[in-house]
Amino acid sequence: MAEIIDGKAIAKRVRAEVRERALGLAERQGRAPGLHVVLVGEDPASQVYVRNKERAAGKAGIEGKVHRLPEDTAEPALLALIEELNQDVTVDGILVQLPLPGSLDSARVVRAIDPAKDVDGLHPVNAGELMLDGSGLTPCTPTGCMKLIQETGCSLEGRRALVLGRSQLVGKPVAMMLLRQNATVTMAHSRTQDLDARVREADVVIAAVGRPKLVRGEWIKNGAVVIDVGINREPDGTLVGDVDFEAASERASHITPVPGGVGPMTIAMLLDNTVKAAEGRERTR
Ligand code: NAP
Repeated sequence: MAEIIDGKAIAKRVRAEVRERALGLAERQGRAPGLHVVLVGEDPASQVYVRNKERAAGKAGIEGKVHRLPEDTAEPALLALIEELNQDVTVDGILVQLPLPGSLDSARVVRAIDPAKDVDGLHPVNAGELMLDGSGLTPCTPTGCMKLIQETGCSLEGRRALVLGRSQLVGKPVAMMLLRQNATVTMAHSRTQDLDARVREADVVIAAVGRPKLVRGEWIKNGAVVIDVGINREPDGTLVGDVDFEAASERASHITPVPGGVGPMTIAMLLDNTVKAAEGRERTR
């Protein structure tokens, strides 16, 4: 039976450690690190995410501020706000809540953020740094996945890792992070053939697809580490991951639950990135 990786408990530890660093910064600088979140429109899920980020920031000794803009905000106005935040010395982290309303070009908006304040790690400069040497701010969910693997104590060196999904947000960056840890990485996506065979040979499986129970328990190699990023709602309202948790638990050595696995790590790593950004800016002053 697999050991369940308790993302909630690990995230709590990360947040406590982040808080210590945030308090240290506040003492040295005379102000708490500042995280500014930009929310455009009224999307209910985004509103919940943003509220959670603001609350979590406060608890971690970070000054969280939300800029709420109307749905019909024109791109120049949004870009002007980002430029203002880029210039503001009290702003350490900037996050634009995605998805943006259809009239706005997310890629252009993300590129407008100062890479040193890009706490979502999505700016092309940060994506490039990850590719080159791993410096720079890295996307929160993949960073959280790596922290969970690290907590299992299992080494990635020379092991076969399979990433399901190739999004810019999760799949691609996590594959790069696994490679940096000397795993032998395979990436699967919607055109991959014989997915079950790829899963069967993997020592580490990271599923980031968004399809309930796509990965069957009998596909999991005995002793594999399974990190399930997927969040899917079943018709009866329950949340499930991309992996059939019950069946996979029979074979895996370690597995994340959904909810309570990767999810809590995402906000914890956002707070960590905010303090990292503040520490980085402190060093360059
Ligand atoms: P995404 O942008 O929709 O990407 C999904 C990826 O899955 C694509 O690369 C797609 O391939 C691939 N895919 C689709 N069907 C597949 C199949 N049958 N076999 C293998 N791969 C397949 O999604 P995302 O933003 O990466 O998110 C993935 C999941 O993680 C979602 O459930 C999302 O809600 C969840 N998520 C959770 C957190 C968290 O904090 N826990 C954070 C972010 C995302 P193609 O590229 O070929 O289309």
